[in-house]
Order: sequence, then C-alpha cells, then structure tokens
Amino acid sequence: MTSQPMRPDRHDAHEAGRPDGAAAVVIGGGLAGITAALTLADAGLRVTLVEGRPRLGGLVFSFRRESAAGELSVDNGQHVYLRCCTAYDWFLGRVGARGLVPLQDRMDVPVLDADGLRLGRLRRTALPVPLHLARSLATYPHLSLAERANVGRAALALKKLDPQDPRLDGVDFASWLRRHGQSPRAVEALWDLVGVATLNARAGDASLGLAAMVFKTGLLSDNSAADIGWARVPLGEVHDTLAREALEKAGVRVELRTRASGLDRAADGSWRVTVDNGPHGREQLTAGTVVLALPQRETHGLLPAGSLDDQDRLLDIGTAPILNLHVVYDRPVLRKPLFAALGSPVQWVFDRTESSGLAALPGGAGSQYLAVSQSAAQDDIDRPVAELRERYLPELARLLPAARGAGVRDFFVTRERTATFAPAPGVGRLRPAARTQNPGLYLAGAWTATGWPATMESAVRSGLGAVREALTELGFPQGQLPQEVA
Ligand SMILES: Cc1cc2nc3c(=O)[nH]c(=O)nc-3n(C[C@H](O)[C@H](O)[C@H](O)COP(=O)(O)OP(=O)(O)OC[C@H]3O[C@@H](n4cnc5c(N)ncnc54)[C@H](O)[C@@H]3O)c2cc1C
Repeated sequence: MTSQPMRPDRHDAHEAGRPDGAAAVVIGGGLAGITAALTLADAGLRVTLVEGRPRLGGLVFSFRRESAAGELSVDNGQHVYLRCCTAYDWFLGRVGARGLVPLQDRMDVPVLDADGLRLGRLRRTALPVPLHLARSLATYPHLSLAERANVGRAALALKKLDPQDPRLDGVDFASWLRRHGQSPRAVEALWDLVGVATLNARAGDASLGLAAMVFKTGLLSDNSAADIGWARVPLGEVHDTLAREALEKAGVRVELRTRASGLDRAADGSWRVTVDNGPHGREQLTAGTVVLALPQRETHGLLPAGSLDDQDRLLDIGTAPILNLHVVYDRPVLRKPLFAALGSPVQWVFDRTESSGLAALPGGAGSQYLAVSQSAAQDDIDRPVAELRERYLPELARLLPAARGAGVRDFFVTRERTATFAPAPGVGRLRPAARTQNPGLYLAGAWTATGWPATMESAVRSGLGAVREALTELGFPQGQLPQEVA
C-alpha cells in the first residue's frame, strides 16, 4: 500500500467549517502512535499519522527471510502479553485481531532446569488470589521447601507495596528481595524468571516500584491476570497490516517514509510540523493538536523549548537490549508451545513453526522453528552470529534431548539494542506525563509515565492517555470522553 503525496492544504487546521484544533498530527507509528491516531479520529478529529519507516508497528514487526526451507516470516522478537494488559486487548479488538493473538486458558509455563533436566510448571488454578498459585508453588521442584515458603511470604509483603510510592522508585528490586529472605536460587528460579522477561532487567537493575507493579498486577491482582497470549500470525500482520486498515477506515491519513524533522508554533498558536518525505521533499503540516509518539531521544530532539520542566532529563532514561535467536531444525525437537529455562543462558523458547509459515512450506515439512528470546541481553547483543551459534546450539541440545541428533537448517539472530527503556532504579521520576506545558502538545510512548514497564500495554496506555489529555483540553466534557480514554 503506498501513500499519496501530501498536500499541505489538506492538513490545515483552518479548513472551512472546521473549528481550530480539529486537525491533529501524530508523529510516530508504533503502538502508541497508532492508538493515539485511532482514538483521535474516533473522537471526530482529522488526523494525520507520520511514520519515518515504510511500515507501522515500530518495535513490533516482521520481515521476510529466505531460508533453506523457503521464505519465512520472521518477527523481530517474540512478543507476549498477559490477560491483565487490558489496553493492549482493547487495541487488538480495535484493529480486529483478537482471534489472532489468543490467550492461554490458564497461565501455564513449563520451566526446565538444564542441570538434571527437571521439569517444573508454573500453572495457576481457578482458586482466588493468592491461592491460584499455591499448588504450583508448593510443587515447584526448582526451590527447596524453605525457599518456597519464603517466596510465599515475600509475595504477601510485595502485595502490600504501593508501586506509585515514589520511595520505591529509587530502590533496586534485588535489595528488597534479599531483605525479604530470598536466596540467589529463588531470585533466579522465580523472581528473575518472570522479572527479566517483563521488565527487561535483572532484579539488581530494576526499580522496586516497577517490579512491584509487574508482580502485583500480573500475579496478585486477579487469578487470571497472568494468562499468557502471543500472536499466532506474524507480528506485522496485526501491528502493520490490520492497524493500517483500521486507521484508513477511521479516516486517518497515514504517511509512511515520512520523518518529522521540526516542530514549532505559528503566530496563531497552531503547531507546525516539518516533515521530510523523500521524493516529495520537505513540507509543513499544521494542526491544533500534536502527539509525539516517539522514543525518548527522538522526542527530546523535536520537543520545543519550555515543554517540560527539565527536558534534558529525557536523555537520562537509558535503554536495554533484547536478542532473539532463530533456529530451524530439520525435525521436531520441542512438543510444547513454549518453555522457560533455568541453569542455562537460554531464557524463553517459543515454537514458531506455524506462525512463521514454515509448517505450510513444501520444504518445511517435518521441520521446526524455535525462537529463543533473550531479555536484558547486554552481554550477548554485540556477539557475532557464529559465536552466538556456538554458545546457544549446545545449550538447546542440553535442554532438548531431541535436538541432539537434529540438523540445523537455519540459524540467525535479530538484535534490538534499544528494545525498551531501562527500568533502572530512579527511572520513575524521569518519565514525563502525557501533557506538556505547551498547549496542544502531548507525549506518548511506552517510556512515558504510564506506571508500566516498556511493554505493548504501556505503549497503548500512553496513546490513550495522550488522547484523554488532548480531548479534555479541546473541551470534551469528562463525561463525554470516548469510553476507551475515559
Ligand atoms: C525484541 C523485543 C521484544 C519485546 N517483547 C515484548 C513483549 O513480549 N511484550 C511486550 O508487551 N512488549 C515487548 N516489547 C516492547 C514493546 O515492543 C514496546 O514497548 C512497544 O512496542 C513500544 O511502542 P511505542 O509506540 O512506544 O514505540 P516505538 O515502537 O519505538 O514507535 C516509535 C515510532 O516512531 C517512529 N519514529 C522515530 N522517529 C521519527 C520521526 N522523526 N518521524 C516519524 N516517525 C519517527 C519509529 O520509526 C517508530 O515506528 C519488546 C520489544 C522488542 C524490541
């Protein structure tokens, strides 16, 4: 789908019969920007969404790759969500993708210890919180009896914490776990098993506030909160193709390959966004409402002076990498859809045979495609592919006996060096709210002050939050805000 050349007059906020502010520009076509554009359009604004890349979805995307088995659809990185991610669930419904990204009936994670190949299972029951995890914990073979009892006590103490309490922001999660009697083994086999995947940091590098938020919301709020969902189709089908269809249906003008390079205020108070769109050169869009839905560094680059108290603090929000290793075996080596590993550098492994299209390829019959998802991957992110292959294939063979005699038809990696913001202690006070000090200008992005770690949920929430502020400022009475942003 190609976009039409832009005509600046179509973006003028002062189009005949339209009130000031009826035009909006959203900059950045990740989940935050898509959400903001959709909801602004749903509220009746004329919206233009500009995205620098040739596709939507930002950090959630797919690409095609020729492999020995044929052409595969590769995700840049395995993405999962939990039933408690209500905003992302709304997003899936809004773009018509709910059936493509189903949730488990009940949270069920096989946990395999490489030493001795002992298999445990984190599975919830139908009992109310916190009893829904009691049986799993009582029989979890990777911890001693005393460690299991201590985990239960720490979970109850964690439940009492208020993640919004600013005092928790500056404390690291590992110190708190130590103070609450958690052994290094309990940290590895339970707290980091969940925390590294959701926070993209080990306990020592994570803010207690964010960790408390994740564990309280995911494991201690509702018995179904941590049921896991993931896409059964390539990520791009949901977050690019279907998202674009929804935007176009909502009347949003989507401009791809269009980078915003400047933002300033006209004499009449409206915003002027300078965009570079390759062959069409440089143009200006004018609108009463602008949502910046960009990563923190890019936001800092465009943000006009005086928008935040201390704009340079955005540059202090660090980033953290995620690495995915993609392995195509010549035979099935894993019978489960996913598992998490202990005692190994391998973290989480997903079967992507169906969703990558491999199963349907004539050359793919009998083969299996595994994605190994490595969060907080600072140590590995710059290793050459050959080194990663040497490090990880023997580990997978150690964990999966069937992989020992299997042939590897393809091995490649996807590296996301700035996958998430670093959830380091102190990050909470650096994350800005949606509303800036400049009227009509709002911030969105998973890294803004949503209270959530850098997730799809945080991105969608940030987009909804920015629109809530924008519509309120435009005079929508609180009672008449669209349901999703109210
Ligand atoms: C490998 C990996 C695995 C992950 N796993 C999970 C997971 O399992 N679960 C989960 O919930 N989250 C996961 N995440 C995090 C999640 O993907 C992000 O938090 C979320 O997608 C961020 O969305 P966003 O809209 O805030 O930002 P982005 O996706 O970064 O979107 C910003 C957009 O702005 C565009 N842009 C930048 N500059 C300009 C400019 N000047 N003009 C126009 N456009 C511009 C960019 O091209 C980009 O499309 C993962 C991320 C990665 C990378």
